[in-house]
Amino acid sequence: MKSINKAVEIFAHTMRNVLKRNSIRFAAALLVALASFVAAPNAALAAAAQHHDQVPGFYRLKVGDLEVTALFDGTRAFDPHWLNGTNVTMDGVVKALHEDPHMLDVVDSGFLVNTGKQLILVDAGAGTWWGGGALGRLAGSLRSAGYAPEEVDIVLLTHLHSDHVGGLTTQDGKRVFSNADVYVAKAESDFWLSPEIAAKAPKDAQPFFQSAQAIATPYIKAGKWHTFSGSEPIVDGMQLVPLPGHTPGHTGYEFSSKGQKILFLGDIVHVVRVQLQHPEVTAVFDIDQTAAAATRNQLLLKLAGEDVWIAGPHSSVFPPLGRLRKEGSGYSWVPVVFTDRWDER
Ligand SMILES: [Zn+2]
Repeated sequence: MKSINKAVEIFAHTMRNVLKRNSIRFAAALLVALASFVAAPNAALAAAAQHHDQVPGFYRLKVGDLEVTALFDGTRAFDPHWLNGTNVTMDGVVKALHEDPHMLDVVDSGFLVNTGKQLILVDAGAGTWWGGGALGRLAGSLRSAGYAPEEVDIVLLTHLHSDHVGGLTTQDGKRVFSNADVYVAKAESDFWLSPEIAAKAPKDAQPFFQSAQAIATPYIKAGKWHTFSGSEPIVDGMQLVPLPGHTPGHTGYEFSSKGQKILFLGDIVHVVRVQLQHPEVTAVFDIDQTAAAATRNQLLLKLAGEDVWIAGPHSSVFPPLGRLRKEGSGYSWVPVVFTDRWDER
C-alpha cells in the first residue's frame, strides 16, 4: 500500500512538473504571439511620416444672407510688457504666465464678407510687414476658401497698424487686392500718413508710420484709397462704428442681414484672457490709453447685452468668432462651436 502511495505521489509530482513546464512553454508562446501582434502596428506607425499641415485657415459663418469667412493670418505671442495695468493686476498676469506660458498667445485674422453682390474684406493681415514670418498667411487662407485677392471689391480697414494692413501691399509696392477700393476713417488716414506727425512721433512708433505710408501709397496713386468722416454709406446693410482710442480713427464695422448682426471690432481687445476680466488693462500700442479703456468698457458692456456675433482679429482661438457674456466683474468669450454645417446654425 505504501509503495502504491509512493508511486501515486511520484506520478503526481511528475505531472505537476510537466504541467508547469508546459504552462511556461504555453505562456512563452502566448507572449511571442502577443508581441508580434503588438509589434506589427507599432512598426507601421514608426514608419509613417508625421503630417505638419493643419486644416486650411478659414472658417465660414452664415449671418442672415451673408457668408462671413474668418481668414487665418498667423499666431504670435503677445509680450507681457506691452500691457499696462495696476500693479496688482499685472502681478496676477505674471503669476498666471508662469503657470501657462501660452496665456498671451494671440491669433491674427481678417474676415471676408460675401454679400451676394460684393466681396468685402475687413482687415488684410500683416503680409510681410509685421511678425517676422509668424504672420502673413491671409492671402493663402483666402485662396483656400475659394476666392482670389483680385476678386475682392472693397477692403474696410479698422485701423492702419501693420498687422491689419500689411497684407494689402507687397514690399516692392504692388497692390495685392488689385481691384479693391480701400476705405479707412479720415482721422486714421490723416494721422498715420502725416509726415509732420510722423516726424514728432517717438522712435518706437516710427515703423508704424513708415509701414502705413508704404502700404497706402500704391492705393492712393491708383485712386483706390478712400476716407470717411461720418456715417456715409459704403456698403448696403453695413454701419460704421467709431471706436477711437487704440488709434485716432479706429473703426468697427457692423453688418446686419435678416435680423442677424456681426460686428468686426478691430483692436478693442488684444488679449482676450486678460482684457475681458480686466477691461481697464491697456496696450502700449494704444495711442490714447484713457480713451482706449473707456471705449472698451462701453462697447463690451453693450455687446454682452446684445444678440450679436463678434469678429475679433486677436481672439485667443481660431475661428475668432463668438459672443460675449457678462461674468463677474468682467466678461467671458463664448466661441463659435466648430462645425462643417456652416449655414445651419
Ligand atoms: Zn492688431
